[in-house]
Amino acid sequence: MAQHSTTPSPRTTPRIAVIGTGFAGLCMGIKLKQAGIESFTIFEQAPELGGTWRDNDYPGCACDVQSHVYSYSFEPNPKWSRMFAPQKEIRAYTEHCAQKYGLLPHIRLSCKVVSARFDEASATWELTLGSGERVTVDMICSATGFLNRPQVPQIPGLDKFEGKIFHSAKWDHSYDLEGKTVAVIGTGASAIQFVPQIAPKVKQLHLMQRTPPWVIPKPDRATSAFEQGVLSVSPLSLRLFRLALYWWNELRVLGFVIDPKIMKFPQRAAGRYLARTIPDPVLRAKLKPNYTIGCKRVLFSNDYYPTLKRSNVEVVTDGIAEITRDSIVTRDGVARKIDTLILGTGFLSADAWAPFEIQGRGGLRLDDAWREGAEAYFGTTIAHFPNYFMIVGPNTGLGHSSMIFMIESQVAHVMHCIDAMRRHGARWIEMRQDAQQRFNRQLQERLGRTVWATGCGSWYLNKNGKNTTLWPGFTFAFRLATRRLREQDYVFASGLGSRDHAAGAAAHAAAE
Ligand code: NAP
Repeated sequence: MAQHSTTPSPRTTPRIAVIGTGFAGLCMGIKLKQAGIESFTIFEQAPELGGTWRDNDYPGCACDVQSHVYSYSFEPNPKWSRMFAPQKEIRAYTEHCAQKYGLLPHIRLSCKVVSARFDEASATWELTLGSGERVTVDMICSATGFLNRPQVPQIPGLDKFEGKIFHSAKWDHSYDLEGKTVAVIGTGASAIQFVPQIAPKVKQLHLMQRTPPWVIPKPDRATSAFEQGVLSVSPLSLRLFRLALYWWNELRVLGFVIDPKIMKFPQRAAGRYLARTIPDPVLRAKLKPNYTIGCKRVLFSNDYYPTLKRSNVEVVTDGIAEITRDSIVTRDGVARKIDTLILGTGFLSADAWAPFEIQGRGGLRLDDAWREGAEAYFGTTIAHFPNYFMIVGPNTGLGHSSMIFMIESQVAHVMHCIDAMRRHGARWIEMRQDAQQRFNRQLQERLGRTVWATGCGSWYLNKNGKNTTLWPGFTFAFRLATRRLREQDYVFASGLGSRDHAAGAAAHAAAE
């Protein structure tokens, strides 16, 4: 088998594999380059770059966080066409960044990483690609995201359906929905965006709702040429605008994590919006959630409720019993004949963290390390997995603000780790088990007091009910906590196969 290393360069800098070309992978690549490190390759499994904003191109796909904060701090865009930009524009932005910051020569497209194994003797990671090729590197920055494995529901008979079926994250644009009878399963963030787009085209739409979401109006609008002009000529106003949006979003965290009782105010407002928009009491009763707002992701839309009033749209709340070759059958025994089934059923997330087969020190598999639920230290480093960094790892997700802020914080944290390794002349850096445990104990205590623990089921929780996805606090607290490396929380190893503790030796010895 051919052995390759990443982009050739003098070994003064570590060989790094970045995995994924979404916002996280690109940010990692940009910061490596800015630090003068060229010895990295970004592996992308798809034939084109971009992560979730490449995969999700269903009709109506747009961001539900304001674009001026859902973009890199170092690459503000004064020209966003709307407050909440559509998918195409966000995707173009990521492509622009990859080009502008010189990442294209570093990217290997259609290169799926299928496994990674750490070799203690050589302090290297060996990656195996889908083609069978092996690649040896010193570090891995895994930026594969966690909303990228479409969840296909376990519904009896689904495989027997003979009509057209696809998931929202794999939209078939070649398929014409005009005049079709369609069932949509799911009423989450994706479905509420595409349902209003397809309803006017189809003959009949049966919306299969298991749990109604809380929906609030989306403060979206087109940005004017004047606004774009001012923001283009005045970087200060662009910065201030971003800052204002950031703090506006940040305030919302109070109800999510500090005291869920605060959520009664937005909940009342959402209830009033539902009452105002849906006068029919029968439909309104179907759409009224029975859990605290925020427990599942709060959805923003101006056209979802109005769409549900259309005469060709039916909201079906009886559970799905089975799917036959041409129908969807509910538990009350009613069979609805359909041509098309669209799955808006979300992604495998809280229980499916390891992006591929990963073996750390001592052959420990990440899936085994995470048997009780995924955990890391600030979502980035994991005990027993030296020189392995995750961007958008466990408990870095947000219910209230921009993931790009978290991504930039995490990437800075990885850069601190690389810096510290160089200073210590270490061959690897590894998270200390006791520090990771302490961090996660405190994290889970805080999560227990949040709105996400008020009793609803959501993709934030794994099968044991553990929240492995969300950060329970202010994003600036995450930034401040990761701004400097707490070297005592890490082990630095310098020799071949040896583990010399350049930092935190005493505490580590105590822990072992
Ligand atoms: P989701 O929020 O997980 O929603 C999945 C939907 O499918 C839910 O309504 C769920 O019902 C339903 N469902 C799943 N399995 C089912 C089954 N077996 N039978 C019946 N219904 C079933 O997924 P999503 O809408 O794709 O969104 C996922 C996440 O992606 C969001 O939370 C958000 O973080 C992100 N997203 C962001 C944007 C954006 O604008 N930035 C847009 C889209 C998505 P239950 O509620 O009962 O489980």
